[in-house]
Amino acid sequence: MTLTETQQRANEAVDAIARDLIRISKEIHSHPELAWEEHYAYAQLVPFVKEHGFTVTEHAYGMQTAFRGDWGHGPTTIAICAEYDALPEVGHACGHNLIATTGVGSAVALTKALDPSQARIVILGTPAEEGSGGKIRMIDGGCFDDIDVAMMAHPGPVDIDASPMFGVAHVDVEYHGKAVHASVFPEQGLNALDALVTAYQAIAQLRQHIRRDARIHGIIKHGGDAANVVPEYTKGAFYVRALKPWYLEDLKKRVQACFDAGALATGCTVEVDWHADAEYAPMKNNGPMVEIYRRNAESLGRNFFEMKDLTSGSSDMGNVSQVVPSIHPNFGVGAAKFTHSQEFTAVAATEAAHENMISVAKALAMTGVELALDPDLVARAKADFKGTR
Ligand SMILES: [Zn+2]
Ligand SMILES: [Zn+2]
Repeated sequence: MTLTETQQRANEAVDAIARDLIRISKEIHSHPELAWEEHYAYAQLVPFVKEHGFTVTEHAYGMQTAFRGDWGHGPTTIAICAEYDALPEVGHACGHNLIATTGVGSAVALTKALDPSQARIVILGTPAEEGSGGKIRMIDGGCFDDIDVAMMAHPGPVDIDASPMFGVAHVDVEYHGKAVHASVFPEQGLNALDALVTAYQAIAQLRQHIRRDARIHGIIKHGGDAANVVPEYTKGAFYVRALKPWYLEDLKKRVQACFDAGALATGCTVEVDWHADAEYAPMKNNGPMVEIYRRNAESLGRNFFEMKDLTSGSSDMGNVSQVVPSIHPNFGVGAAKFTHSQEFTAVAATEAAHENMISVAKALAMTGVELALDPDLVARAKADFKGTR
């Protein structure tokens, strides 16, 4: 069977399971679960991949809501990631319901199109992408040691083949001061809210003077308990992002100085947790794989948006891309809405979104077929990864 015939078979396999994929996507979308709590999504996905012949390691790598499914024994091992966590307040505003189903859909289609001797297909259920880095724990647990290449696709307003995603440090800051009556004995207090506001303002000033391939943003999570009590405890959460790892390190030091400034100015004490184990690396988009994915997607009628100005998020797929050749294309859901908004939540389970999801599952599966059947492509992907291409 030729490569094109095998790809055709993969596409037919996606069509054959399309109804199941749409049902699972809708189920996950209507039951939004936060990072590490994705039990409902897990219960939709694990039986589905088992039913289609994957040998599944449940609760993989020490995470209750992670899984790994293996199929086949061919020379190239292709991993496809499925995310399924949602956001506080706005639910599936990042459309991870569609990532889950493009992931399992393309992985299952590959098992129908290929012979088990032609490749190993690994479907990875990767929890807690929104800030906690499930994939980082999988990397640390050795998940990617036997994997040659990895793929996933993320929904958004338009198709982008190789979005330049930032590295990101997730930092929590806490101030401890001294509570006292805010009117009777204010001179006896140490104001932890003032400390946090001072830090926030210092960060806001810093933001005007950073490179354009970097971002800093954050919130006050706890600002005090009563207006007539000097706040003795406050908490903030910030993300520090940069495309260049060295600049991320530089910015982390400058943000730390802003936190210290709040403590110094107010006499409060400060505790900063940089969550080093959940720091996301920038995405290293693999050139040859991006090219093949784009060609396959275009053959299905998809159109790519050329990304001239840099605006970007981050993903723990960035960490995966630093250990194996990887791609993380974005795909449009048929509406010009932006992720992490209520509007995106509303469009992430429409008929148009699902039509796009099915077509992207096919594009991923077609790319998987090429990786499985063309050892030269895998060699080129690996050379590009090592920077020797
Ligand atoms: Zn997101
Ligand atoms: Zn996302």
